[in-house]
Amino acid sequence: MTTCDVAIVGAGPYGLSAAAHLRAANGLDVRVFGEPMSFWERHMPKGMLLRSPLAGSHLSDPSRSLTLQAYQKTSGNQITAPLPLYRFTDYGRWFQSQAVPDLDSRKVDRVEKNGAGFRLTLEDGETWKARRVIIAAGIMPFAWQPPEFKHLPFTLASHACAHCELSRFAGKKVAVIGAGQSALESAALLREMGAEVEVFVRAPFVRWLWRQKWFHTFKPVARLLYAPPDVGQAGLSHIVARPNLFRRLPRPVQDRWGKRAIRAAGAAWLNPRCAPIRIKTSTSVISASPRGERLSLRLSDNTERFVDHMLLATGYRVDISRYPFLTGQILESIRRINGYPQLDSGFQTSMPGLHFLGAPAAWSFGPLMRFVAGAEFASRAVTRGILRKG
Ligand SMILES: Cc1cc2nc3c(=O)[nH]c(=O)nc-3n(C[C@H](O)[C@H](O)[C@H](O)COP(=O)(O)OP(=O)(O)OC[C@H]3O[C@@H](n4cnc5c(N)ncnc54)[C@H](O)[C@@H]3O)c2cc1C
Repeated sequence: MTTCDVAIVGAGPYGLSAAAHLRAANGLDVRVFGEPMSFWERHMPKGMLLRSPLAGSHLSDPSRSLTLQAYQKTSGNQITAPLPLYRFTDYGRWFQSQAVPDLDSRKVDRVEKNGAGFRLTLEDGETWKARRVIIAAGIMPFAWQPPEFKHLPFTLASHACAHCELSRFAGKKVAVIGAGQSALESAALLREMGAEVEVFVRAPFVRWLWRQKWFHTFKPVARLLYAPPDVGQAGLSHIVARPNLFRRLPRPVQDRWGKRAIRAAGAAWLNPRCAPIRIKTSTSVISASPRGERLSLRLSDNTERFVDHMLLATGYRVDISRYPFLTGQILESIRRINGYPQLDSGFQTSMPGLHFLGAPAAWSFGPLMRFVAGAEFASRAVTRGILRKG
């Protein structure tokens, strides 16, 4: 069995940033497992643009020398806003080549307790021993599909994360469910690729993030109202950007503001691309049943639609028991609240040596943890926590 001090499961923005900080801190032997940026590459649609501003889209290293600007300078690839998905994944891979050149792209199949530390079993059966484990495995297993649609075959209904190639729907009639960035952008891309699209939104209206325009026209005012990561409404954005402040708020306030900060909305630049699309608000799909090769949808206004496919842009619900590599023994031993692990100031669970980064840390540190922009805070905090405890 091979050993290391810290094993990081996941090579997305959080795993890579945490590795960059831990490796620079002292002589810890830090190993990163997983395919770099694979969620962005395989589970987001080609042609997508990032909703987060450039200032909130850097991965983090301790000397801030691996920023988007540094990538632009080294690679000659232009950084533009909004940032195209392919450029961001290329940046992530470049970051990895600089900060974690010896990354091990094998998947971790199992994480178990092993004496004072942990044993990791990789996809090919090789085992590793680690004193500490950082889970930075993202949100893919948390993709949420309404139970009333679970019986439908994949050919007729699928979660948005199942596709990176929406062009397969060219010439088809597609119903998109949802009112967030993923639903609206998928709808725009589908239409531009030649599909006939209708979006169904439960809420009475679609929320657009017009403030993004302010950043270009009234910069000084916008800066007063919104912190650079641009997560949350005016004022709230500054509290969200400071997780140590957010986590000290009374729990009911954290819960309320946390939800408000991430409510479904579309980027302002997406609005004109959605203008030609039929968006039916105050309408939900009550039931869906296959009719031959197609799908019949019954709507809450008592009308019906026949479509070739229903795309569920219905979001993600964190529940760490859905990580397939975590054993029951570990899950039963750590304190969890509504599927989230309860974390201390160093992102450590109630099981010493086991840490979580990214969206699972949102219950403890607020909504910033759901975005790339939270990687800087999280990486510094987990590094401090580990160095303090040894
Ligand atoms: C459509 C869409 C658009 C988004 N747009 C934005 C945006 O514009 N800006 C923003 O900040 N956020 C955006 N997000 C949120 C984004 O997903 C997170 O900010 C980001 O991915 C968090 O990084 P992460 O490292 O936690 O997770 P991920 O990027 O998901 O990385 C997790 C990594 O873990 C690896 N992994 C998983 N299981 C294992 C295993 N068993 N063994 C080894 N490796 C494993 C995966 O392969 C993956 O590479 C968007 C999300 C979606 C769905």
